[in-house]
Amino acid sequence: MSRKIAFIGLGIMGSPMAANLVKAGHHVTGFNLTRPPIDALVAVGGHGAGSIAEAVGDAEVVITMVPADPQVEQVVLGEGGVLENARPGTLVIDMSSITPQTSIRVEAAAREKGVRTLDAPVSGGEAGAVEAVLSIMVGGAAEDFAEARPLFDALGTTVVHVGPAGAGQTVKAANQLIVAVNIQVLAEAVVFLENADVDLAAALDVLGGGLAGSTVLNRKRANMLNREFAPGFRIDLHHKDMGIVTDAARAVGAALPVGAVVAQLVASARANGDGSLDHSALLRGVERLSGREVA
Ligand code: NAD
Repeated sequence: MSRKIAFIGLGIMGSPMAANLVKAGHHVTGFNLTRPPIDALVAVGGHGAGSIAEAVGDAEVVITMVPADPQVEQVVLGEGGVLENARPGTLVIDMSSITPQTSIRVEAAAREKGVRTLDAPVSGGEAGAVEAVLSIMVGGAAEDFAEARPLFDALGTTVVHVGPAGAGQTVKAANQLIVAVNIQVLAEAVVFLENADVDLAAALDVLGGGLAGSTVLNRKRANMLNREFAPGFRIDLHHKDMGIVTDAARAVGAALPVGAVVAQLVASARANGDGSLDHSALLRGVERLSGREVA
């Protein structure tokens, strides 16, 4: 069934996701802070809006994919935002990665206006968005999840309802913890192998086939081998996510000792000017720590 969807936030992730919804036969109207991604959506059969009000006015479903908590608050709760303009009964799906507490607040504010919400952050990166193979972790009411399921299936291949409002964000925080620690330790192995004069490509081939193999190794090996750090997923965003998981873990009394160290290393990468690089550039931090020349 074709749905009328407003898509707000056409960045690295939002642009290909909106295009995939068009491909699946939906009527998608995009809004973004800058114009070029809106024009790109129109070029693939979508529609463009000049404001949030224009995008969501007659939408059945609103999807937001913006950087962080302040943007979700502004876009959904703010003046001229989604809740001011959406019709009662609209389903608002936030697919950004933000704190569970903000998702819970957004749900409560929306409920007062008769608007339903899901928090549905994703994993799989830009490639996963382009190829429509994202993992999508969803918090909210089961019946709203069921209604949104065909849209999620147009964007991803692993789609799971994990609990009530905020639960999707909690699972995403765990995802970001696991990914950051994986990338850091892969970077440490790369510097170790290179310093030991081992053929790095050959080493990564064999490591990838054993217990050390991982999606992180598969997806990030080329970045590390070629020192190619165009994002992808920016270190600035992973820094934001390490703050989210640190806060969320503290709130539930969970200790994350290795995560805490890696959060500091992500912060250090940012402080050294690497914030706009892909998170595989954690390799540069390991090079700095090992006294190596960093190109
Ligand atoms: P991005 O910075 O490329 O895109 C964000 C977009 O939101 C931009 O195009 C910006 O113009 C738009 N935006 C910001 N404020 C807005 C506003 N007030 N109104 C309308 N549009 C607004 O970021 P991204 O990489 O696409 O990430 C988006 C979210 O997805 C983040 O929460 C990120 O953590 C998460 N995420 C990213 C990846 C990835 O690999 N890039 C993977 C999984 C999850």
